[in-house]
Amino acid sequence: MLDSDCWNFDPSDHYVTGGEIVKDLRIAIAGGGIGGLTLAAALARKGIDATVLEQAPAYSPVGAGITMQINAMQALRHIGLAEKIAVAGIGLNRLVLRTWDGSQIFATDMAKPATQYGAPFIGIHRAKLHEVLLAALAPKAVTLGFSVQEFSQSNKKVVVTSTDGRQVEADILVGADGLRSRVRQQLWGDEPLRYSGCTSWRGVIDNDGFVPSDEAHETWGDHSNFGMFPMDEKRAYWFATELTEPGQSDADDPRPGLFRLFGHWHNPIQQVIEATPKESIIRTDIWDRPPRSPWGQGQVTLLGDAAHAMTPNMGQGGGQAVEDAIVLAEALSRATSIPHALREYEQKRFVRTKFFVDNSRRATRISHGMTPLLSFARKWVVPQIPEWFRERQVQKVFHFET
Ligand SMILES: Cc1cc2nc3c(=O)[nH]c(=O)nc-3n(C[C@H](O)[C@H](O)[C@H](O)COP(=O)(O)OP(=O)(O)OC[C@H]3O[C@@H](n4cnc5c(N)ncnc54)[C@H](O)[C@@H]3O)c2cc1C
Repeated sequence: MLDSDCWNFDPSDHYVTGGEIVKDLRIAIAGGGIGGLTLAAALARKGIDATVLEQAPAYSPVGAGITMQINAMQALRHIGLAEKIAVAGIGLNRLVLRTWDGSQIFATDMAKPATQYGAPFIGIHRAKLHEVLLAALAPKAVTLGFSVQEFSQSNKKVVVTSTDGRQVEADILVGADGLRSRVRQQLWGDEPLRYSGCTSWRGVIDNDGFVPSDEAHETWGDHSNFGMFPMDEKRAYWFATELTEPGQSDADDPRPGLFRLFGHWHNPIQQVIEATPKESIIRTDIWDRPPRSPWGQGQVTLLGDAAHAMTPNMGQGGGQAVEDAIVLAEALSRATSIPHALREYEQKRFVRTKFFVDNSRRATRISHGMTPLLSFARKWVVPQIPEWFRERQVQKVFHFET
């Protein structure tokens, strides 16, 4: 049965013209995470109707922080949301990298590129980010509890079916359904995920002077990392990673294990772990995918982690999902042929997202000293990287264009 409630206009309005800009598009977005919601907001701004089909029955984003870096904030500026996100989060002006005993490896100034690009580097709680994105959408734009099971394409239409048999018809389906995307699986089969070698823990604490209000910190030990940054004036977020086998879980309280790994590291790491309620610590194994091209077929494409899952070492997975959304909305607003516009968007995004997938994976391997050679590189080569080279990388990371 077609679920017409998902649309806030009459489907009979719909028509597609050849050679001219395609009008009255209806776009179904599988997944209402950072990427899906940003796309819906960007399409709404272009006057294009989109419905977000989200499997969760209610919104409860992971209780953790996220960085929206300068490139992501430039992208969000295109849809008028950068300022709101900056207000909901906090600006980070310095990134400091240390070894486990507290010696500084280097510090990177974020205030300079922020001024250059006219967009700040932000730390924010994920729930706040979702709130701002949701507030930019029409009330009926998200259908909760719609778990995409499969889709079919014919006559320039896509019909999306949920696990409980509801159906939505659209001109385009965008799979923004994350790392284990159903849409991607139907398009390309069971391409295996790639384990990064690391598991992660995340926690949120009251920032009782643990980290300065405008700094992000990361510390590298032999096979583990610990990082921390503020998310607003009062709270901070931390993450910890360890080189280990996938599929392990913690006993009731993960903190004793974390003390064993990080208890002897520099202050205030032990105090931060102590200050975190055990229930709020989230453990996630880190996976990515080897880049593939094309991402989609016909009237279907992918976006965000569904297209290019990457390890979090460059803090860019969410940022790249945001960039995808802005570029896709722009392409669709000028489309004269849907498949052409979708393939153009994929091509445009492929090189940049591959850069992040490859370099994030490399960063994971180096920062965890995954082999003796990488351990050597981490200890002796990384601290010697000249500032001009780091600045050049920073420019590449932060330069966003639609
Ligand atoms: C430890 C860690 C730290 C990170 N730190 C950062 C950071 O600082 N900065 C940054 O930019 N990125 C960071 N990332 C990466 C970032 O979280 C992801 O890249 C980002 O969330 C991807 O957004 P997305 O919308 O593509 O997917 P998701 O956020 O995963 O959203 C996918 C959505 O699809 C829904 N869904 C799934 N299957 C279906 C289905 N079948 N039907 C309907 N809905 C479905 C899900 O419920 C979910 O809401 C981090 C990741 C990790 C693991």
